[in-house]
Amino acid sequence: MRILLIHSDYLKYKTRNKTKIAEKIEDNKKQGLFENSLVVFTAVEKEDGADPQRIVENAVAEIMDIYQKVDPDNVVIYPYAHLSSSLSSPDVAKKILKGIESKLNEMDLQVERVPFGWYKSFEVSCKGHPLSELSRTITVEKKEEKKTTDGEKSKFFILDKEELHDPEKFQYESGDLRKLVLYELGKMESTGDEPPHVKLMREKKLADYEPSADVGHLRWYPKGRLIRDLLADYVYNLVTENGAMPVETPIMYDLADEAIRVHAEKFGERQYRMHNKKELMLRYACCFGAFRVLADSFLTWKNLPIGVYELSTYSFRMEKKGEVVGLKRLRGFTMPDLHTVCRDIDQSLEEFDKQILMCQKTGEDFQINYEVIFRATEDFFEENKEWMFDEAKRIGKPILMEILPERKHYWICKMDFAAIDYLGRPIENPTVQIDVESGERFGITYIDESDEEINPIIIHCSPTGSIERVICSLLEKTAVELNEKPPMLPTWLSPTQVRLLPIAERHIDYALKLAQDLKNSKIRVDVDDRQDTVGKKIRNAGKDWVPYVLVLGDNELESNDLMVNVRSTKEKISMSLDDLKERIHIETVHMPYRALPLPLKLSKRVNF
Ligand SMILES: [Zn+2]
Repeated sequence: MRILLIHSDYLKYKTRNKTKIAEKIEDNKKQGLFENSLVVFTAVEKEDGADPQRIVENAVAEIMDIYQKVDPDNVVIYPYAHLSSSLSSPDVAKKILKGIESKLNEMDLQVERVPFGWYKSFEVSCKGHPLSELSRTITVEKKEEKKTTDGEKSKFFILDKEELHDPEKFQYESGDLRKLVLYELGKMESTGDEPPHVKLMREKKLADYEPSADVGHLRWYPKGRLIRDLLADYVYNLVTENGAMPVETPIMYDLADEAIRVHAEKFGERQYRMHNKKELMLRYACCFGAFRVLADSFLTWKNLPIGVYELSTYSFRMEKKGEVVGLKRLRGFTMPDLHTVCRDIDQSLEEFDKQILMCQKTGEDFQINYEVIFRATEDFFEENKEWMFDEAKRIGKPILMEILPERKHYWICKMDFAAIDYLGRPIENPTVQIDVESGERFGITYIDESDEEINPIIIHCSPTGSIERVICSLLEKTAVELNEKPPMLPTWLSPTQVRLLPIAERHIDYALKLAQDLKNSKIRVDVDDRQDTVGKKIRNAGKDWVPYVLVLGDNELESNDLMVNVRSTKEKISMSLDDLKERIHIETVHMPYRALPLPLKLSKRVNF
């Protein structure tokens, strides 16, 4: 296929007459005007019929390459037979042109396709900068890529008690591990179903889609914001207790910086880019900022290992439109990101070990089951087999192992932890990665004992995975366990921990007095002072997943004993207020606390 790419101020066309091979079109396709367009004049050729799929892929790769450099508003695909003297059949041509159109659409570009097989008049105004006129020949040859060839695929094993097993034959005791394996090996059939957390995040007034932003960007309501903040506090405490130092760095970077450009290219196409006078990229993780800070710091071997931590509110990834869903896959997300500088591989292995414990702890604290994938290059695996087996042993259950024939990314070894959602798909959460490239690329150095400057090894770690995915996992878990227990969040994350239900008007003052007492003891409490029946108030507390609910009537006014409805066990327990406080404090010990940022009285609440 031949293509001619013109970056134009505008393209204007009008259909005149049909040829015999003209495609049927609606009236609105008979003419068009597209401003700031990358116009792709195309001629599909005879040999393209051998592998139309490949031609579509290669053409899209070329178009995307130019698209990212010139940043047009539209891409216009214009059939233009005059570019070749060896044309394909009209059917093949239409198939390929439509294929290119839909592929670009999937990438969320504004794409227009000018009708095939019509005589047209057109006017195009070329911008005239150096990249505004380019021609390319697209063949079925795969674009030269550094990726491994098909013959060198990763090998997968189940590692159980220091033995490697074939994943296809392994006797799985854990359904979750089996699901993870099926997914990783590409053997899980996709369903278009929406995971249940999407409905829950809306129903519980935590978060919702924001139609006025790009897809995959959410608005958060006060309860959701509170949970996010508590989780942010949680990770902050965890990493700083383990010695990390918090920093904050910019969200956008200049691609003119060689190190940043190369690191960004490793990540591929899924980036937000902006072209003003500079070519800028929105960060997809905190790596860039951390590396720049570390590169400008004076480090000696005595400082190491040293960790810098940032919670990226936000990081950005241009995920495919069709894949963006709820809290699981977003274009704007919040990632806790720890970067640890280690003097050499040995020190990085020691650190890796500690960071795995951190990741495991988050699973325990959130009561989320993680399944584990341990990945390494073949070289690393051969050299560090013992160590890898030891690390796997710490997980205490069989794990999936991927051995890569050679290094494709900046890491040589990584461990990924995934929760499994209601539909049986992994939610990738914590990760630890050993990076052997970035130290050198970003000019990070330390001075060793003999006064030499050395490039360190860097570990990337997110001990929880993105905050959104943690909430996703917690909500999905309630759906998975619906038949076993009442859905709820852990008490330390529940926006309302105790709800007081005064039966009548005359019990409200008493309820407010108790509420103040609980508040003073750092317990999130509210009072349902609305004029509903007790039955309805109890049902509403249930819908809000409130862990402890107290009905207050004449009996309670007269005695010290309170009847407490415990959501997690469905019990009704009589206890004093002090007993209740103690119970909640024990349940939430070591977990962060924040006050409830909502009116105490439910009658004053806004319905978001
Ligand atoms: Zn990183």
